[in-house]
This record gives sequence, structure tokens and C-alpha cells, in this order.
Amino acid sequence: FPVENIRNFCIIAHIDHGKSTLADRLLEVTGTISKSDKNEQVLDRLQVERERGITVKAQTATLFYSYNGQSYMLNLIDTPGHVDFNYEVSRSLTACQGVILLVDANQGVQAQTVANFYLAFEADLTIIPVLNKIDLKNAKPEVVMEQMKNIFEIEPKDVLKVSAKLGTGVNELLEAIVERIPPPKADVMKPLRALVFDTYYDQYRGVITDVAVIDGCIKKGDKLQSSNTKKSYQVQDLGIHQVDEILTHCLYAGQVGYVVMNMKNVKEGQIGDTLVHEGSDVQPHPGFKQAKPMVFAGVYPTDQSKYDELRSAIEKLTLNDSSVSIHIDHSPALGQGWRLGFLGLLHMDVFQQRLEQEFSANVIVTAPNVPYKVKIFGAKNIKMYGGEEVTVLNPCLMPEQEIIKEYYEPLVRGTIIAPDDYVGEMTNLCLGRRGVMKEQIYIDSKRIMFTVILPLNEILVDFYDDLKAVTSGYASFDYEDHGYVPSNLVKITYLLNGKEVEELTMINHVTTARTLARRVCLKLKENIPRQLFKISVQAAVGGNIIAREDIPAYRKDVLAKCYGGDITRKTKLLKQQAEGKKKMRAIGNIDVPKDVFITVLKK
Ligand code: GDP
Ligand code: MG
Repeated sequence: FPVENIRNFCIIAHIDHGKSTLADRLLEVTGTISKSDKNEQVLDRLQVERERGITVKAQTATLFYSYNGQSYMLNLIDTPGHVDFNYEVSRSLTACQGVILLVDANQGVQAQTVANFYLAFEADLTIIPVLNKIDLKNAKPEVVMEQMKNIFEIEPKDVLKVSAKLGTGVNELLEAIVERIPPPKADVMKPLRALVFDTYYDQYRGVITDVAVIDGCIKKGDKLQSSNTKKSYQVQDLGIHQVDEILTHCLYAGQVGYVVMNMKNVKEGQIGDTLVHEGSDVQPHPGFKQAKPMVFAGVYPTDQSKYDELRSAIEKLTLNDSSVSIHIDHSPALGQGWRLGFLGLLHMDVFQQRLEQEFSANVIVTAPNVPYKVKIFGAKNIKMYGGEEVTVLNPCLMPEQEIIKEYYEPLVRGTIIAPDDYVGEMTNLCLGRRGVMKEQIYIDSKRIMFTVILPLNEILVDFYDDLKAVTSGYASFDYEDHGYVPSNLVKITYLLNGKEVEELTMINHVTTARTLARRVCLKLKENIPRQLFKISVQAAVGGNIIAREDIPAYRKDVLAKCYGGDITRKTKLLKQQAEGKKKMRAIGNIDVPKDVFITVLKK
């Protein structure tokens, strides 16, 4: 295939604007899938994607399209739309020269449309603006084109109008892809450079890598070498994705496809790696910016004997999702486990669901927290912590208050788009979350785009739900990292009859510490079963008690109901009680059910 006849592109859009539907229609119109197949959203292959109706993983498909008597190879990469998966989007973009910027003609430009546009714009890609859902009665193409002009300086005459559902305008879109997007700059004659932009694990074939061939070509039997690890492999199979894999003999410069090598260890498949021919001294591709996890949570096997199984499942899944960071962790209540870093809460949920569905793993995920930083005093302490600045991923590992010079917390720069009727409500919501309002611009006569700086911790739980609630569902929200600022934080510890419960340690802003502590003490009171003695539940900040509840004594005698006689019933009950004990963590002489550690932190 001549390089001039290749087009590599992505579809980027706000969630639900119709990416997956459009991808299906493109596959159908080009004959890649047949129309009669009731193949709804064929690129959303993961169970979690079908259940939640969202795209999590970018998927690739190659389409063949004839235009003006020429045959073209179009490589389509479907991308996730949610803010938590922006890392996947930016990775897909590296393999492309152009994007379809898809906007729902009824909903208009939304926060993620803006974020995705800038990703493509900064990567210097050709942008084809497309209005989707023009079949809808209440579609407002004129208004949406005005928004695109105001925010992105896109001229209305360049905007295509389609209905991904009905197929209207899809042929014109295919023509625009061929005409407007440039072919990749690739040279088959140069030494091989293939960028690994995705990897996944197959039980039988080992690690499979998705590559974009930048220069040269890969053939079956070739000896390849990883620029990162310097390890060598032999190519066993290679091909392109046409929804399913299609074997080919070669992958040439400009093409996108998959390569199966004798790569057995999941750690060897590194995204951003460049594959070259063995012994070649060609410069590797610069690769990718590492994803920065912003939400951390403990992950533990429900049953400690499954520790090794869970470790292997986490390793395989992180191969498929390299944005998750892994640290070994230990909890007195939950045993051996990990502290994993995610890009956001949805990302965390999806990861847990994938562990359960794809690896049948049973896991406990603790309440999430953001990474804090502190500066500490004293040469000895600095030496112990390995530096003056310490990043704290787990609140119970926060250094003692006496040695802390300053606390820092992470901020985000949020973008909110909503009708101007809700300005008051939105402002109040943001201020209540310690937000600082920045610019406001009208994107059309009724809708406003806000920028607001917020502490990440404040949007971790419920922010998006509250925003939807105060704007009758009309607001959209997206955010990006905005660095750290000094902050007035305190460490809250919880005590049961004077004994500290490590797992419950929290870092919080001083202004809301007491409210939070009261709520948690009350939850502990409600969730810890009464025992033979009174239990005091206390919350403390630096030696001062800031909240307190008491759990009165109660005699829990399971045998009382047995009236002496029935021995089998009695042993059964005793056994049940012993089983119950396993699910308990002893704090001093108090038994605390393990799930209390999770329920207590939910709102
Ligand atoms: P994604 O989140 O961007 O992948 O969006 P989907 O492709 O899953 O589409 C979201 C919803 O919009 C689905 O219910 C689709 O059936 C619907 N949809 C997509 N394209 C169109 C269209 O052109 N017209 C109409 N009326 N609905 C559409
Ligand atoms: Mg989708």
C-alpha cells in the first residue's frame, strides 16, 4: 500500500456525542462489517464498556475505501471521551495525523469537547469538525457552529453535518478524511521504527503490541529489539485490526497493526517503546508523557490466600492500562495489598470492575485520597524521608505534625459549560468547595464557559453529581492538573478506647475537619456492633479531641436462643461466630468488621 494512500485518524468527542456509533457506521459503509450484523458498537469490546455504554480503551480498526478510482487504507482509532481517560486519547493521537472532532448538534460544545480539541490542536493534527445527530428534531446546527467559531475559530463552511445513526453524510465524511488529512510522513526504505502505542495480554500468545510503523517495515520472522529494554524477539504473527485481527505478511511504514512476538512477561511490553530491527542503532521515537495518577486507594484481596492470583491479575490489567501506578501496601485490617494510583474516580471504578469481570478477582477497594506533599524540618528527618519534600500517597504515612514545615495539596483547573441561568448555583457550589472562579466567556447567546481552580480533594466525591443537580443536568465538567499550593491541612486520627485505627487516618482542610470527624465518628458508632463493654469513639487532631461518640455495652450471646438442648445447632452457631471473627479486625480488645473501614468513608 503506497504511503500516500494511508490515513490515520481518531474520533474525539464529549461522552455520548456518538463516537462509537459513527465508528460503526464507518465500518459499515466501507464494508468492513456487514449491515445485517446487529453489531452495535463493535469497537466497545470490553464487558464494562457495554454495560456502562462508555469507551474505556482506544481500539483500532483498518477500513478500505475507494475514492476517485484509488484505494485508501484508513486506520481508525476509537478513543474514550471521559476526562479520566484523556491519557488514552493523547496516546491514540500520537499514531494519527488527523482527528474528527464530533459534536452533538443538540447538546453543543461540552467541556470534554474543549479538552479534546486542545489535545489535537497541540499535537498539530488536522481537525475535521463534524456535527452529529442532525436527524434530531431539536438539533441546532447554527447555534453549535457559532459556539465552534467562538471557542475554536472554526469556520462554519468547514463543518460537516452527519447523522451517525442514519448514515446521513457519512460518505462525505469519508471523502473529507481522504482529502483533508495528510498521509503519514513515513519512509519504507529507512530502518525500522515502530511505536508501541498499546499492549494487551493474551493467555496463549503472550504480550501483543499495537504499533504504528513510522519507518521501514516488519515482516514475519524478523528479529526485533526493544529500544527500552534492549531485549530481542522474533515476530511470530502480525496483521491489522479489522475489528477482528487479519493476518498480513508485512506492516509497512505509515500502517497501524499488531505484532505477536515471543514476549511472555507482561512487564516487557512497554507502551511508548520503539521496536527496531535487532542490532539497529536508529533513534527511538520520543514516546509518551507518563500519565499522572491523581487518585489513590488501597486494593486488597478479600481472601488473603488469593494474594498471588490478585497480583498476577493486577499486573496483566495494568499492562492493558499503563496509567495505573502500583505501590505495595499493608494494612493491619486488610492484610497485604497495594496502593494503586488512578487518573480519576471513574477510572478507579472501571479498574475494579475489570478486575472482577476479566479476572474473577474479589477485591476490597478502600476510600480514595489525593496525593499530598509536605516539606519537613530537621537534617535527621530529611535524611530518613529521603528529601525535604515528601509525597504522601497514604494518609497514615503522613509524617508527624511536629516536623512539618508546610503542607501542599493538588489543584485542578476545571472547565464548566452550562446555560447562563445557572451561574449563581454553579458559583455557590464551586465556592463551597474552596474554588476560585477565573474567566467566564459566553460561547453563544445563552451558554457560559467558566474556568475555576479547585482543590482536587474537593471534587473527588460527588462534585460532578452536585453540579448536575444544581444545573438540572445541563452542565458539563472537565479538569486538568494545576499543580500544588500550600494549604492549611490537618491529619485526623480516630481512636477506639484510646487505640488508634490506622486505616481511618485522613488528611483534610482545617475548615471542614470537624464536620468530617463528626460524621465519621457517628458512622463508626452505627457500624461497629455493640460489645461486652462500652467503647469510646474519638477523632483527634494533634492530640486534641475534635469529635466523640460512645457505643454502649451489649451482651451478644448467640447461644442464648438455643435453650440448652440442641447440640448440632449450638456448634453451628459457634462456627458461624468464628467465621464472623475472621472478618473482624481486633483493635485492642474491640472487634471491628472489616467492611466498616469502607462504609464509614462513603458519603
Ligand atoms: P460515544 O459515547 O461518543 O461513543 O456515543 P455513542 O456512539 O455510544 O452514542 C451515544 C448515544 O447517542 C446512543 O444512544 C446513540 O444511539 C445515540 N446517537 C449516536 N449518533 C446519533 C445520531 O446521529 N442521531 C441520533 N438521534 N442519535 C445518535
Ligand atoms: Mg463510545
